[in-house]
Amino acid sequence: MKQKIHSVLKCLKCGREYNDHRLFCDDCKDALLRTEYAVKEFRTGKEKNIFRFKTWLPASEGHDTRIGPCVFPSEGFGRALGLKKLHIAFSGYWPERGALNITGTFKDHEAAPTMEYFREKGIHDIVLSSVGNTARAFGYACSKLNMNCCIIVPDKMLERLWLPCKPSASVKVIVLQDSCDYAAAIKLGEKIRAQFNVMTEGGARNVARRDGMGTTVLEFARLTADMPEHYVQAIGSGTGGIAAYEAAIRLRQDGRFGERLPCLHLVQNSPFTLIHEAWQSHSETLPKPASNSEEMQKVQTMYADVLANTTPPYALVGGVRDSLKATHGQTYAVTREDAVKAKSEFERKEGVSINEPSACACAGLKQAVAAKKIRPDQIVLLHITGGGYDRIHHDFKIHRLKPDRIIEGNPDFSSLRSYEQLFN
Ligand SMILES: [Zn+2]
Repeated sequence: MKQKIHSVLKCLKCGREYNDHRLFCDDCKDALLRTEYAVKEFRTGKEKNIFRFKTWLPASEGHDTRIGPCVFPSEGFGRALGLKKLHIAFSGYWPERGALNITGTFKDHEAAPTMEYFREKGIHDIVLSSVGNTARAFGYACSKLNMNCCIIVPDKMLERLWLPCKPSASVKVIVLQDSCDYAAAIKLGEKIRAQFNVMTEGGARNVARRDGMGTTVLEFARLTADMPEHYVQAIGSGTGGIAAYEAAIRLRQDGRFGERLPCLHLVQNSPFTLIHEAWQSHSETLPKPASNSEEMQKVQTMYADVLANTTPPYALVGGVRDSLKATHGQTYAVTREDAVKAKSEFERKEGVSINEPSACACAGLKQAVAAKKIRPDQIVLLHITGGGYDRIHHDFKIHRLKPDRIIEGNPDFSSLRSYEQLFN
């Protein structure tokens, strides 16, 4: 019997469709692929986790997990801002509310479906370069599924690598010593991928990450039978914005959620605001990158340094610019002071701790309201992408990840015959 096709990947530039897992169209390197699902109707399953949305996740099956999107009406923050219909998507850990992202951020929404998808496609090894949240989420997902994962991290960032469970032996950590920054970690990841034929998690090009992130909009639709009019999120790469837009397109196709797409409000943290600068100046491309040392300096002054991204998928077909265009989107730059103030306001009004990027999102929402880009009676979804770390540390035993290999400079792996030898 012929197996029913769950989904295909479609190039957003030439329209070519693919059945295998891939990050690029054979012909168009400047375009994203998007998942086209066989089922066009919005359906939810009985699962109490992210896999409730598996008809619109590239993994056709799920696994046992408590990770999933959590949406509720705001209690105090909306009132303080004069917004009557503010909803919060809380993608951290807050058990009383049903938010059970165990590593504390929305990266759990990316890692769980990605690793499930890879498992179904027969991919068992991945390599990723990360400064924290992503590594924790993938480290957790791989520990749970016992899949091989190689995390590359600059030594200064090692302290951010912890898991709320015992790490599986399949999770390996390579630490880059001395002045190695995130860019160096990415370069090394690429080298390992190429030499040992290991899959990368794929960043914005990985459809499982985007469709996993988009589940906050789907959860909003499940609970309210509607789409938000405005979607607010702090961004580094902007992939969360693309994901929200793509989820909304699928809901629109269903026909029961109206024609209007949520307007994207994407918030960046000064001084690292490439997307904001490009969008505000109506530029088709990002500003020319600063020198490495200038960029490092900028990152050091940021409040939410995980939002620093030098190569966001802005100008790609189907990327951030196209998502902003299609939704009449807005961008914002918020300072450290804005974010600190908004953080304490949010935490006081809603009664939960949030992380730095979420504080930036709150500050961006305040700007949008002050500039009348969002009216008091409109339906708003504010994505709090991480929070509740204090509760995670209280509720779980925290395990710090230890280096399996420490590397200095630009290593030569030519004598190694296999990926496994990296750790022998
Ligand atoms: Zn193409």
